[in-house]
Amino acid sequence: MSDRYGFWRLLREGLRGHTGWGPAWRDPEPKAEYDVIIIGGGGHGLATAYYLAKVHGITNVAVLEKGYLGGGNVGRNTTIVRSNYLHTGNELFYEKSLQLWEGLSGDLDYNVMFSPRSIINCFHTDGQRDAEARRGNQMILHGADAVLLDKEGVRREAPLIDVDNPRFPIYGGLMQKRAGTARHDAVAWGFARGADKRGVDLIQNCEVTGIDVEDGRVTGVQTSRGPIKAKKIGMAVAGNTSRVGALAGLRLPIESHVLQAFVSEGIKPMLHNVITFGAGHFYISQSDKGGLVFGASLDGYNTYAQRGNLPLIEHVMEAGVSFVPAMSKVRLLRSWGGVMDMSPDGSPIIDKTPIEGLYLNAGWCYGGFKATPGSGWCFSHLIADKPTHHIAQMRLDRFKTGRVIDELGAGAQHNLH
Ligand SMILES: Cc1cc2nc3c(=O)[nH]c(=O)nc-3n(C[C@H](O)[C@H](O)[C@H](O)COP(=O)(O)OP(=O)(O)OC[C@H]3O[C@@H](n4cnc5c(N)ncnc54)[C@H](O)[C@@H]3O)c2cc1C
Repeated sequence: MSDRYGFWRLLREGLRGHTGWGPAWRDPEPKAEYDVIIIGGGGHGLATAYYLAKVHGITNVAVLEKGYLGGGNVGRNTTIVRSNYLHTGNELFYEKSLQLWEGLSGDLDYNVMFSPRSIINCFHTDGQRDAEARRGNQMILHGADAVLLDKEGVRREAPLIDVDNPRFPIYGGLMQKRAGTARHDAVAWGFARGADKRGVDLIQNCEVTGIDVEDGRVTGVQTSRGPIKAKKIGMAVAGNTSRVGALAGLRLPIESHVLQAFVSEGIKPMLHNVITFGAGHFYISQSDKGGLVFGASLDGYNTYAQRGNLPLIEHVMEAGVSFVPAMSKVRLLRSWGGVMDMSPDGSPIIDKTPIEGLYLNAGWCYGGFKATPGSGWCFSHLIADKPTHHIAQMRLDRFKTGRVIDELGAGAQHNLH
């Protein structure tokens, strides 16, 4: 019997009480040595292992995860997928990632529920309109799609937004139609299953506690399940980047901050797109289960705790009700937090480190979910010694040279991105 997740398989299992499904991946013991070790079983680590095996034929690979697969930020985010960036350093990469999203369910044979329902970034001043028009033009120049909406366009596309009597007048919005949402857990599970099927060992409950370096080159790792040797090691540990980097004696330009998200009780469909507020940090969409999913900015202090504080919750609710007044009638179900790997310019790093054989994937700030396939694709190319042009500017040394990708124009300050 095929282990594909197709219609006929579903029908067959449905008729026999779903008794024929096996585990989606194995639970192997770690081997003594691998060609490549990926530290971190989040979206980026799993996607990297998948593409290493699928695209480059490198299958003697282990993903080491200190907890369970998908228990980090990949399972904690608000699932927005888009490629609406201004600077080439980001836009090239995120557009590649969006293109991978568009075929991902078929490629993985796993329904990641990618839903291209569009994103609209609202603007509220003439100056903001100019900035959004410039951003839209840049997107189009890089092969992405963008439409500049006026006020009536926003009313037509997102009827829920109060455009007639809002606290902050709405002049229009920049829309990317191909943007949308996906099911976060499914993305982690789909990449895990795809990597496992191609021979990658996914080792859970295996914390990396040391990185062995001899004569400037990595030789392996120390873990809670014993030492493992490796020729190459990729770090994809998001909010724990500084801590894991320190195991190899690296001082990396990453700060850890908490970011919160919120979901309301389930209600009937009322919001068809992802919309963002331009007069404060706030964005919202509606999940397939009916909950309003929304969030805003960082809590603003360094932490490794996966929970936030009340002042930010109050701030988010204020911004939300200013933008979408109907929200005030909905009950909040729960909120949670994740630890973000903030880089000084708000843009990621996919690069080699000064230690031979040690590779870095970090700095995803609060936008790394949409990057998942693109990040895995590009990181696997780098590790396989076939770097792609999509990451040409995502270099670690840009913070020394000053050639930063300053998307927000906020300078080199982690908590402002
Ligand atoms: C509230 C919130 C909302 C967000 N919203 C969005 C959004 O709408 N769109 C978007 O694009 N992005 C969003 N993000 C960001 C996105 O989730 C992250 O940037 C992305 O998931 C990070 O990459 P990852 O999936 O590999 O990280 P993680 O899933 O965090 O994976 C890293 C893994 O490394 C493991 N690890 C750490 N240290 C070790 C060690 N020593 N040994 C072994 N394993 C280790 C961790 O346990 C973890 O599982 C959001 C994040 C949060 C928290």
